[in-house]
Amino acid sequence: MEPLPANLRFDVALSRGRRYPEPEHPYRNPFQRDRDRIVHARAFRRLEDKTQVFPPDLSDHFRNRLTHTLEVAQIARTVANVLGLDQDLTEALALAHDIGHPPFAHAGEEELDRQMQRFGERFDHNLHALRIVESFEQRYARFPGLNLTFEVREGIVKHSRDFQPGEQPDLDEYLPGLRPPLEAQLIDLADEIAYNTADLDDACSAGFFRLEEAAAEIPGFRELADLVAREYPEVSERLRFHEILRRLIDRLVTGLIEGTRQAVLEAGVKTVEQVRHHPERLVRMTPETARLSADLKSFLRRRVYDSEPVRVERRRSMALIAALFAYYLEDPDRLPEPYARQARLMPPHRVICDYIAGMTDGFLRRTCRRLGL
Ligand code: MG
Repeated sequence: MEPLPANLRFDVALSRGRRYPEPEHPYRNPFQRDRDRIVHARAFRRLEDKTQVFPPDLSDHFRNRLTHTLEVAQIARTVANVLGLDQDLTEALALAHDIGHPPFAHAGEEELDRQMQRFGERFDHNLHALRIVESFEQRYARFPGLNLTFEVREGIVKHSRDFQPGEQPDLDEYLPGLRPPLEAQLIDLADEIAYNTADLDDACSAGFFRLEEAAAEIPGFRELADLVAREYPEVSERLRFHEILRRLIDRLVTGLIEGTRQAVLEAGVKTVEQVRHHPERLVRMTPETARLSADLKSFLRRRVYDSEPVRVERRRSMALIAALFAYYLEDPDRLPEPYARQARLMPPHRVICDYIAGMTDGFLRRTCRRLGL
């Protein structure tokens, strides 16, 4: 396949650099170093014990947020490679894309946001990720945080949405009103491909639906199921499912590559600056692939995310977070140091939110059990 025009690749030599200047490394460029810094961060390791969708006590094979992140990185790198974009920047962004996620998946994010809204504030996992890499990770003597390059920080706050000037004053340095480079734009769709297909896999093995039901309700899935049934009429349902899933990922990734190439050609965009000033994002799936992806999403919503067992688990998770939040808010001195000290200098709800958001599922459960909540 043809790569995109060479000037659409974000050239690491043009990086706006780091907040605290550092000497160059003899053989790793700044985006490669950022990727490595993310992998070595504590917040990255904690992803191992954060739920993606299904709590781990149901099965040993489900994705958690760490294995999900690796799948996103793998897909994103492939797309960047084929399109001729910068793989190191792409990989750094993919590895960082979920490090701001609180415990208990979306239920955790929703509950923390609900708690913060009582104080006129919000919880957003992308902004939380920025705070992690800017200040919470303490690994360097000379500066707080990981001192990542501008483009990685920009990608962390912009990979899933754009914002306008004045919309978020604390993000004014990240070029409001402009699109991020293509490397950052593709993370969101690589994420979508990874979670749709992985959730389908995990949910099928957990017995949420049968292969025939997915084939009956998702036209694109049925097409592949027929193909596989003709090719391998004798194999088990489980193997057929994997043969379908593999083709599904391939079709979605190919659609993302093709859709982006078409959008870039139609827009006539030839440089990163033009990508930034283009009125809309240029990374997209072809219309047929976007439909397949939307069909997968709505099937998963009906059969999995909105199903009774997942809803029960979500309610339980939200109640635990609410109870813990209330426990610390009642007396912020109950927080461990250094959070208790911080809570005397800053609004306590902010410190409590940061503390809980950083917890793994396991740590949160153990803490609640210890406190009798
Ligand atoms: Mg994700």
